[in-house]
Amino acid sequence: MQTKAVLTEKEMPTHWYNIQADLPEPLPPLRHPATKEPTRLPPPLFPEALNEQEFSKERWIEIPEELQDIYRTWRPTLLHRAYRLEKTLDTPARIFFKYEGTSQAGSHKPNTAVAQAYYNKKEGVKRLATETGAGQWGSALAMGCTFFGLECKVYMVKASYYQKPYRRVLMETWGAQVIPSPSEETEIGRKILKDDPDCAGSLGIAISEAVEDAFARDDTRYSLGSVLNHVLLHQTVIGLEAMKQLEKLDVYPDIIVGCIGGGSNFAGTFLPFVKDKIEGRKPDLRIICVEPQACPTVTKGLYAWDYGDVAGMAPIALMYTLGHGFVPPPLHAGGLRYHGMAPIICHLHKLGFVEARAEYQIPVFEAAVKFARSEGIVAAPEAAHAIKVVIDEALKCRESGEKKDILLALSGHGHFDLAAYDEFLSGRLQDYEYPRELVEKALADLPKVD
Ligand SMILES: *Cc1c(COP(=O)(O)O)cnc(C)c1O
Repeated sequence: MQTKAVLTEKEMPTHWYNIQADLPEPLPPLRHPATKEPTRLPPPLFPEALNEQEFSKERWIEIPEELQDIYRTWRPTLLHRAYRLEKTLDTPARIFFKYEGTSQAGSHKPNTAVAQAYYNKKEGVKRLATETGAGQWGSALAMGCTFFGLECKVYMVKASYYQKPYRRVLMETWGAQVIPSPSEETEIGRKILKDDPDCAGSLGIAISEAVEDAFARDDTRYSLGSVLNHVLLHQTVIGLEAMKQLEKLDVYPDIIVGCIGGGSNFAGTFLPFVKDKIEGRKPDLRIICVEPQACPTVTKGLYAWDYGDVAGMAPIALMYTLGHGFVPPPLHAGGLRYHGMAPIICHLHKLGFVEARAEYQIPVFEAAVKFARSEGIVAAPEAAHAIKVVIDEALKCRESGEKKDILLALSGHGHFDLAAYDEFLSGRLQDYEYPRELVEKALADLPKVD
């Protein structure tokens, strides 16, 4: 019984896959936040190489050797067959999962963090500024910066800074400077603290502080952990590896399932496969994006032009959005609380190549515990959203007798999320309804673009 598909280091991808070469219709351009004209990423914030990748139409983009060496410190990741979960569910479906929780930071995020640190270093940047909520992105970037000798400044949402100290310690261990946001170190931070000294912070405020920091210093650039095309590009190492691993098992999936916050881990997994659907080789392939009911961007948002950030300083993208001013309820899958979604995912959804589903957090944790008790892995609450849908699909196969092959994108482990598991196990976890009024209010405030 084969449970793992192992790749050797020699079989690892040497190039990232760029979906922009194969889209049936090109992506709509980004718009400048002030002029509303088509724009690149703001050059003082991003290095040239990443700006080029953002708009490139080249199908294969080489992964520099030096970066491949860094990838080898945790890649290739394993692809497992979930025999024990299949047995628990008594399903004829075969379930495979690609597990990114074995990176040093415990998620897929280092795949882009090390790449971003590399390109910044190449262009003479000394220091990166970023924001983090619960600390997953901040810790990945802290590790990337330490590999390439860059300073790293992380604005961490104040509530998480005090409630979830372990990821802060992780970031500091990798040498990053972490500061609770709002802080006294930026103009926007000082302004917010003056009005509300006890402000607990939000991801939007932290983004604004990191952006201000990068604008203010010549040696500093800004770094974003999801949503943008170049981030999704870097994450395609996941799908390219998974495709080769499944080939070794003589499998092509019928259904691919992943969670979407900004869309990077799942796009990284399915983009190499969606090419086969676009080109008609696998017309029946189903790609299911899973989001929380409390932040249902694709299933309930508008397809509209909106700012990438709360302050309206980031470029405007055509995407599904709940409104840039929308602050979702404090659900435990902190990585799934973004108001917008990667334009690439939205575009593919609009064109009918991917579908989306929203799930409540209590059934999500039920699925996560079932997974832990069959496969042993305690999944990140974000990834558990995908587990929920995989289990549902496998149970449908039990009803119909169909032998489908399902691929689960398992983006990370939940070892820093045990307080959430504790709430669930002790019956204290609550569900959040879709906050319709908050969304309607936020959607009234979209920028006007012709
Ligand atoms: C950040 C995070 C996510 C959500 O981000 P995406 O860009 O949608 O992948 C999902 N899972 C884990 C484990 C994360 O850390």
